[in-house]
Amino acid sequence: MPDTTRSAPSLEAHWMPFTANRAFKRAPRLLVSASGMHYTAADGRRILDGTAGLWCVNAGHAREPIVRAIAESAARLDYAPGFQMGHPGSFALAERLAALLPGDLDRVFFTNSGSESVDTALKIALAYFQARGEPRRARFVGRQRGYHGVGFGGISVGGLESNRKAYAAQLLPLIDHLPHTHDLAHNAFSRGQPGWGAELADALDAIVAQRGAETIAAVIVEPVAGSTGVLVPPRGYLERLRALCDRHGILLIFDEVITGFGRLGAPFAAQALGVLPDMISCAKGITNGAVPMGAVAVRRGIHDAIVNGAPAGIELFHGYTYSGHPLATAAGLATLELYRTEGLFERARTLAPVWEEAVHALRGLPHVIDVRNLGLMAALELEPRPGAPGARGFDLFLDCFQHGALVRATGDVIAFSPPLIIEPGQIDELFGLVAEALRRLA
Ligand code: PLP
Repeated sequence: MPDTTRSAPSLEAHWMPFTANRAFKRAPRLLVSASGMHYTAADGRRILDGTAGLWCVNAGHAREPIVRAIAESAARLDYAPGFQMGHPGSFALAERLAALLPGDLDRVFFTNSGSESVDTALKIALAYFQARGEPRRARFVGRQRGYHGVGFGGISVGGLESNRKAYAAQLLPLIDHLPHTHDLAHNAFSRGQPGWGAELADALDAIVAQRGAETIAAVIVEPVAGSTGVLVPPRGYLERLRALCDRHGILLIFDEVITGFGRLGAPFAAQALGVLPDMISCAKGITNGAVPMGAVAVRRGIHDAIVNGAPAGIELFHGYTYSGHPLATAAGLATLELYRTEGLFERARTLAPVWEEAVHALRGLPHVIDVRNLGLMAALELEPRPGAPGARGFDLFLDCFQHGALVRATGDVIAFSPPLIIEPGQIDELFGLVAEALRRLA
């Protein structure tokens, strides 16, 4: 048996995801434990978590009720097949989620990740129009700078060129993209939703005119684009997209993998922003990041069209070995209970103005060309170093880590999304560390 507990394993064998592997392995950054708002690095330093891990640890790290639920579940029922069999936990979690979800989005399909949730939602959209006798509705509309995970469906509707270019030969064929809504000439230093840009939703009309509404199944967007650098939707934009989808009989999918579970001060962005989609894909915060899990919430009519309209037998030929895994559902139930008992979504809403003030205090520091925020999300955009886009952002990330804060760099955008348990003093500490880093790197 290989000894996986020895303190210094070789770093060679593990090909790391979305990582500069060669540079990382020359100077690794290893986290060895976590509790509450902090990680502990391999050299013993405490690191303030400004990113909730990867936008997922919304209730803070290693929370006892979640840890206990996972341990008990693993000992009681390690695994139960989810095809033609079930276990109570997945039904209980679906019921709890349905109660949190907006409108009649009360049917829930479980996956293991955000990427799987996105691909599942796209497949459900196709199955729905098949069931309705509209099989020509097969096109999808995504958005530039959208991130929908890394499945072939997700990278096809996604709009990040770096994630697509190596695979361009095999992307899904029937896809169009809306323009993104980020334009520093109009919306730099916006607090909350920018006032400019609602009309960018009208690009959907142009796509409809070109393709024909009868060929379009669904539009998929992140209500707030997260991974591409916190792009906050202009006021009225999502409402306009909703109205256009209604007019043309197109489904609207919100990818809430980041915005779900309290990030904007409500269970989902749909509620925080008052726009009801037809499906919501989610993951991450569903288990507080403690066990991989995702879900797709579907309006009841979509579910019923597919399930009740099918002949006897399996209605949807889709699912994963680990859909609704007992460990994940136990973690999910404990997580939702923690969000409820600690009022963490309300807490995020209450803290949002404090958060906004603190992040906007970075305006005016060296190389800062934008600050933007919504709920407990924010981003700082830095002027790219000439000839080296992304280098300044990465240096800031490294410097912050050296000095005790975890932030996330995507190119020259630094994103912040702390656990919702963050204290006002820790907000000041986080942005204080960032300010010092900006001055050091000036
Ligand atoms: N969709 C959105 C909006 C995301 O932000 C992410 C991940 O950050 C994903 C999908 C993919 O999730 P996963 O990495 O769990 O597959």
